[in-house]
Amino acid sequence: MRVLVLSDIHGNLEALNAVLQAAGPWDALWNLGDLVGYGASPNQVVNVIRPLATVTVRGNHDRICSGLTSTRNFNPIARASAKWTMQELSAENLEWLRGLPQGPLEPGMMDEVRVTLAHGSPLHEDHYIHTMRDAWAPLQQMATQIAFVGHTHIQCGFAQKEHDWQDLRPLYLSRVGSVMWRLPLAAGVRTLINPGSVGQPRDTDWRAAFAIYDSVAREVVFHRVPYDIASAQERLQRAKLPKRLAMRLREGH
Ligand code: ZN
Repeated sequence: MRVLVLSDIHGNLEALNAVLQAAGPWDALWNLGDLVGYGASPNQVVNVIRPLATVTVRGNHDRICSGLTSTRNFNPIARASAKWTMQELSAENLEWLRGLPQGPLEPGMMDEVRVTLAHGSPLHEDHYIHTMRDAWAPLQQMATQIAFVGHTHIQCGFAQKEHDWQDLRPLYLSRVGSVMWRLPLAAGVRTLINPGSVGQPRDTDWRAAFAIYDSVAREVVFHRVPYDIASAQERLQRAKLPKRLAMRLREGH
């Protein structure tokens, strides 16, 4: 089975369209949350993802932008964007976002491999896994050998087998065009994988990030693809959202 793994689309329709076009055929789509917030196309993104996703785990922005929890812990830019998003979302899409399941979830056995899906961490939906120190406890305690997480907007992986720990970062030779990086998943190695953010990367590479998980070949392929960033920025401007949101798309930060 070939699974398209997406996370943190954040209302960026241009980035999502570029990813869907680049991904090729897939058998399932796992979406790790934060479909909305920051970007200027929340309804369009939800409308595209709803019929396509096999599983969607809710993210903190999905929860907050649909009014399930308050914006209290958000910085002023995230708060302004969450308020705008809540007003912009159709009643139907708000309802759908409110009903999204909280991670961790297991999408079911695939080619004899079980995996966990979560927004932040398999241990808590709001935890960030940035470093091996953050990855240590989830790698020990997660219910399956492989877990996919998002939330940090940084494409990476963490692996552990007995006393061997590995911090895995894709090495791309080019900052131009589309690129990919293969990560074989060896048996008996516990691995956390973050496909990166489709709509708001924060690893200084502005290109949309996603991953393809191949359960037969037992590998993950990380991808980066360019998208129509000017159009995404223009929509932010038209919506009168904070200027910083458009700038950070280009900076990839
Ligand atoms: Zn996010």
